[in-house]
Amino acid sequence: MYENSKALYKKAMELMPGGVNSPVRAFNSVGMDPVFIDHAKDARTYDVDGNEYIDYVLSFGPLILGHSDDRVVDAVSEAAKKGTSFGAPTSLENELAELVIDRVPSVEMIRMVSSGTEATLAALRLARGFTGRSKILKFEGCYHGHSDSLLIKAGSGVATLGLPDSPGVPEGTAANTITVPYNDEESLKEAFDQFGEDIAAVIMEPVAGNMGVVPPVEGYLDFVRRITEENGTLLIFDEVMTGFRVGYNCAQGHYGITPDLTCLGKVIGGGLPVGAYGGRRDIMERIAPTGDIYQAGTLSGNPLAMTAGLETLKQLTPESYEHFNRLGDVLENGLKEIFSEKGYPITVNRAGSMLGFFLTEGPVTDFDSANTSDLGLFAKMYRNLLEEGVYLPPSQFEGMFLSTKHTEEDISKTLTAFSNALDKIKA
Ligand code: PLP
Repeated sequence: MYENSKALYKKAMELMPGGVNSPVRAFNSVGMDPVFIDHAKDARTYDVDGNEYIDYVLSFGPLILGHSDDRVVDAVSEAAKKGTSFGAPTSLENELAELVIDRVPSVEMIRMVSSGTEATLAALRLARGFTGRSKILKFEGCYHGHSDSLLIKAGSGVATLGLPDSPGVPEGTAANTITVPYNDEESLKEAFDQFGEDIAAVIMEPVAGNMGVVPPVEGYLDFVRRITEENGTLLIFDEVMTGFRVGYNCAQGHYGITPDLTCLGKVIGGGLPVGAYGGRRDIMERIAPTGDIYQAGTLSGNPLAMTAGLETLKQLTPESYEHFNRLGDVLENGLKEIFSEKGYPITVNRAGSMLGFFLTEGPVTDFDSANTSDLGLFAKMYRNLLEEGVYLPPSQFEGMFLSTKHTEEDISKTLTAFSNALDKIKA
């Protein structure tokens, strides 16, 4: 059933490290070869062997309208006819900037870049330049892209591969990154007691999405906001994943906490390569050419990416989030029922259109508790689910994503697939 994928993978292995251009795509942690995708539409993905899947990967988050949304595709096609890149400003950049500033409470000014990694890297340089301090603080299990200072105890592909950090990251760089457990006020307080005056920024996913989905416990974001303010440290929300997924006004709107800087990506590029960082005007004005902190990009503000982002954001309404909550409820309750019926543990965490399940009694509130999930069971179930036509992220430490195109019928088919997948393990 995967012959064409297998042949393509064999060839790809000769050409690219692990046969892929991003590690988690290699399916290593589920112990099988990756499927190669041919095409996709709405909530469905089709592989090169003609297998059809209900897709909860959605390119790891960007495709909140599902695949190949008609309006996005038409608008991008029209934009391409006018030119694919100019290296000069366009009105499209104004339009997307205005829309994001309008929707994201902390963003008064914005700079577009080409990936989430670039956004967090630039936001940290800005925070260091603005405060004149050198240290940054991140949380265990949070992933912010693969720049040196952030590849420390990162989750996502790194945790999946079992590497706590990566060779090639200089010790000196790592020494400037403090890590503490997520959702733990006491260790954050200790870090500030010890290093407070040296910490330029705290960077966090307001809902962690790279150790599975782990929302902040009640009051935690408020605590982080307070302690950063008291110490003259900038608070950076990395909303590359949560931006426009957790709520109409992002996670910060949903929880009512306003950071100093925000990083965005994924959804705001509608499936094309984009990242952005923005925030307080007085901080953003320190960026060149207004200010002295350098950051640039040949393809930044690319007209095709701006168009895809604009057409995506314009179609999201408060009702979209009601849709996500409705489907999320059905999926969560269904999963709990099935797992309890079949005698397996499960913990389900949710935030807007993000859902993470862990094969453990839970609760899962940080990286350590996320790691109590039964990875062997996840791998077996994963392979069976794929055969049942359900495509999940190939790692326990990635969440499931919903799109506006997923339907109740899709969820019901997905639950049947989970039930069958578990039965096959027992058989
Ligand atoms: N920040 C978060 C929260 C992410 O989830 C990711 C990617 O998954 C990144 C940053 C890096 O973004 P990119 O892969 O576009 O470089």
